Amino acid sequence: MSDAKIDLHTASLDAAHLDENGLEQVRASVRALCVRFPGEYWRRMDRERTYPTEFVAAMTEAGLLGVLVPEAYGGSGLGLSVAANILEEVHASGANAAALHAQMYTMGTVLRHGSAAQKQQWLPKIASGEIRLQAFGVTEPTAGTDTTSITTSAVRKGDVYVINGQKVWTSRAEHSDLMVLLARTTPKDQVARKTEGLSVFLLDMRQARGHGLTIKPIRTMFNHATTEVFFDNLEIPADSLIGEAGKGFRYILDGMNAERILIAAECIGDARWFTDKAVAYAKGREVFGRPIGQNQGVAFPIARAYAQMKAAKLMTYEAARLYEAGQGAGEEANTAKLLASEASWAAADTCLQTHGGFGFAEEYDIERKFRETRLYQVAPISTNLILAYLSEHVLGLPRSY
Ligand SMILES: Cc1cc2nc3c(=O)[nH]c(=O)nc-3n(C[C@H](O)[C@H](O)[C@H](O)COP(=O)(O)OP(=O)(O)OC[C@H]3O[C@@H](n4cnc5c(N)ncnc54)[C@H](O)[C@@H]3O)c2cc1C
Repeated sequence: MSDAKIDLHTASLDAAHLDENGLEQVRASVRALCVRFPGEYWRRMDRERTYPTEFVAAMTEAGLLGVLVPEAYGGSGLGLSVAANILEEVHASGANAAALHAQMYTMGTVLRHGSAAQKQQWLPKIASGEIRLQAFGVTEPTAGTDTTSITTSAVRKGDVYVINGQKVWTSRAEHSDLMVLLARTTPKDQVARKTEGLSVFLLDMRQARGHGLTIKPIRTMFNHATTEVFFDNLEIPADSLIGEAGKGFRYILDGMNAERILIAAECIGDARWFTDKAVAYAKGREVFGRPIGQNQGVAFPIARAYAQMKAAKLMTYEAARLYEAGQGAGEEANTAKLLASEASWAAADTCLQTHGGFGFAEEYDIERKFRETRLYQVAPISTNLILAYLSEHVLGLPRSY
């Protein structure tokens, strides 16, 4: 083990879980790492819209991005709650995990549905960080959330598939070697059910760029390395297909609960950061001869945001527990993402309001985190679509779309 690598199995209960002591050791290690990347680092990245390469490298070297990869493939073989703790702590430190979190979980599609040869070829290198699997190409400009309406096509021709179409919001495509790509192998009007005829590919972007694959960055309201991706008669080896052709929609759905739980954990981290910052300022800032936090109009919104965070945190780790136990967790993962994204936003708004004018000053980091945490009510799934899921699949109300 290199000096930079953290021993994640210290104080472990069993192969997949860490006890509270083990989790606290992991969190402390993450905090110690994040201290090396203070507000000034993130402000510079934000100002210049630069990818935080050094931070991603440090997290990779520490072995923190391979926690979900089974030990047989060189990872730590730990459960989702460990990954959630890591990402929560990154965000609670004032950092942002968007540049690296996909390296943790995108490999789940390969792990669950890939062939033995694909797993052997890719997972050890993904676990070590030698290969970056950070790009996930699902969303398209015209289909939006209606994923089965995507039109990017993959047509089999001998020993290759020919890809044509376009993706949007494909994050980290410029900082990834591989992409998990969802494409139609059978047009929607030729399948019995619209969820059929979609297939998943593991695309090697190193070979594809300049040969039919073009990536164009999108500048957004915060520092997020997201892109548009164009496929123009891109030929990829037929063995890039993951699992069975036509079954890709189910494979993609499988990974989404994990992603929602981990994003919820990031929201919890953000909410903690905003609340800590608001409390410290409300105690120290004196106006009218007393600390502003003595006014209930200032204190109560902070207390309310804290309560929202605590409730969302319980739901998030309950969802992680159920997911690790193989009990689905669709309802809990969606509920956790809904509550946590609202809790982080409530904390962000309250923190900014508590700081008055200074909340708008770049050097306080609040305006940056405020912009960053707004995303989670839209991506990776928007609040309305979660409510639609709960309405239909949990409450049994009529399908709305
Ligand atoms: C910064 C960023 C990074 C992203 N990264 C990725 C990525 O790496 N890979 C990827 O594939 N995608 C990515 N996305 C896409 C993201 O998952 C989608 O933006 C998100 O799911 C919402 O889809 P949409 O933008 O197409 O909105 P639309 O589907 O166009 O919806 C627009 C609005 O209408 C509402 N709406 C739509 N239909 C209904 C309905 N039936 N009932 C009620 N309300 C409805 C939605 O809730 C939303 O508020 C990213 C997006 C952003 C902004």
